Amino acid sequence: TPMERIRNFCIIAHIDHGKSTLADRMLQLTGVVDARAMRAQYLDRMDIERERGITVKSQAVRMPWQVDGVNYALNMIDTPGHVDFTYEVSRSLAACEGAILLVDAAQGIEAQTLANLYLAMENDLPIIPVLNKIDLPAADPEKYAAELAQLVGVDPSEVLRVSGKTGAGVEELLDHVVRTLPEPVGEIDAPCRAMIFDSVYDTYRGVVTYVRVIDGRMTPREKIVMMSTGAQHELLEIGVISPEPIPTKGLGPGEVGYLITGVKDVRQSKVGDTVTAAVRGATEALAGYADPKPMVYSGLFPIDGSDYPILRDALDKLKLNDAALNYEPETSTALGFGFRVGFLGLLHLEIVRERLEREFNLDLISTAPSVVYQVTMEDGTEVEVMNPSDFPTGKVREIREPVSRGTIIVPSEFVGTVMELCQTKRGSLQGMDYLSEERVELRYQLPLAEIVFDFFDQLKSRTKGYASLDYDVSGEQAADLVKVDMLLQGEPVDAFSAIVHRDKAYHYGVEMAGKLKNLIPRQQFEVPIQAAIGSRIIARENIRALRKDVLSKCYGGDISRKRKLLEKQKEGKKRMKNIGSVEVPQEAFIAALSSD
Ligand code: GDP
Ligand code: MG
Repeated sequence: TPMERIRNFCIIAHIDHGKSTLADRMLQLTGVVDARAMRAQYLDRMDIERERGITVKSQAVRMPWQVDGVNYALNMIDTPGHVDFTYEVSRSLAACEGAILLVDAAQGIEAQTLANLYLAMENDLPIIPVLNKIDLPAADPEKYAAELAQLVGVDPSEVLRVSGKTGAGVEELLDHVVRTLPEPVGEIDAPCRAMIFDSVYDTYRGVVTYVRVIDGRMTPREKIVMMSTGAQHELLEIGVISPEPIPTKGLGPGEVGYLITGVKDVRQSKVGDTVTAAVRGATEALAGYADPKPMVYSGLFPIDGSDYPILRDALDKLKLNDAALNYEPETSTALGFGFRVGFLGLLHLEIVRERLEREFNLDLISTAPSVVYQVTMEDGTEVEVMNPSDFPTGKVREIREPVSRGTIIVPSEFVGTVMELCQTKRGSLQGMDYLSEERVELRYQLPLAEIVFDFFDQLKSRTKGYASLDYDVSGEQAADLVKVDMLLQGEPVDAFSAIVHRDKAYHYGVEMAGKLKNLIPRQQFEVPIQAAIGSRIIARENIRALRKDVLSKCYGGDISRKRKLLEKQKEGKKRMKNIGSVEVPQEAFIAALSSD
């Protein structure tokens, strides 16, 4: 397809504003998916996406569309809306010439509407403002068209109105895409260059690499080179997704499609890499993507220790199409062998963990999530702490924690309670704007550690679900942080150590000690549970000894009977971990570490 007949666009929006549903209608209206094969959220291919109704991976689809008797090829890229997947969104944006900014006509602008708009603006993409869900009785298109028009700087009459559910206005939207978005630019006669924006592993076909061709042309059976590694492969198949893979005779500039080389290892097809021809190829690679930086770390341990190799293999596989996933082996006295895994946020953690459990049949424990701290020791050494149990011993001069810029959009009646919440989370107000009379945008600087855990849940419950939140990491700050250890009979249990603000250390200690007291069964002897900062005990509980000591029955009895009894007890305790001389059932760790 010549470039003037191609339009590449993506749909960006706050979560649940209807991107995937609108994408469904487009697939149907363009005839790419017929009514019989249609199912809701067609492009959310992962089970987990379908069940939770959220998009995790971006998807690209080619659709034919006719305007004024001319045939066009539209490449639509559906994107995830959640903050944790901003990285996916920005990759999609780099493969497009324009973006449809979708806003729910019953809700108006939300925090991720802004975040996604800013991302699109950073990529210099033209924006098509669209109100969705106009079929809803609660829709207030007049009001929100004004809000949206003001945000993107157009006249309210230029805001399109559609319903992804009924299909109203969707044809007009597609026409508008063709008429107003620029065609791709690229040089047809230059050496071929294509940008890899995703790659996935397919059991039957090996690695499937998704590309956007910038210059030149790529044809089947030619030899190609991955520019970052110099690795050469034969192009076995090239084609477009519409919505299933369809082989073609090649891809030219501006086109979006897939490549198959028969390679089995996704690492050979690195997202952000440039593909060129082996013969007379390009010498200069395209600007790639910055690698995403993990923000939250957690330990992942198989409940059954013999599953460790399966977990390692599973992580290797997931990493292939999730560049944001990072991990290295970790050993814990409490939990055995596992991995320290870096995530973009808690939803990312949850999704990865669920995929591991489901797709690889693993049972896992994850330890309390932690952000990355920078510690300066008294002697000037710098230590990066991704795991509280690795906190350096010795005199500390300063601890710095990551801070984020948070944007909260909320109806004005909830401003007070939101401010109060941010206060308790050590936030400082940076600014406040009225989007309309009843809706307010609050900007806070907040420690990342406070925002990534239960902040969003608390925000939602305080605002009856009306608040929306977006945040990005903006730097670091020194803070009065301490490491709290939990001790069982004087022995620290690594999985329970946490780095917390000094003001909250006592609360953490008391809460954890109370939890453990209820979870650890009584032993033959009294077991003290303590929370400590260094050598200072800040909280204490006791598990009293069993009243009826099994051994007391054998008092004066023969030693062999005594041994037998102990042996028998051991049998029933296969799933126990020993912390010093205290036996702790695996379940206690799981229960104590699961958030409530
Ligand atoms: P996404 O998170 O932006 O991809 O949003 P989805 O497409 O998954 O839609 C979120 C919810 O809104 C789903 O329950 C959809 O059925 C519903 N929805 C989407 N578009 C419309 C619409 O035009 N009208 C109505 N009434 N509901 C819609
Ligand atoms: Mg979606």
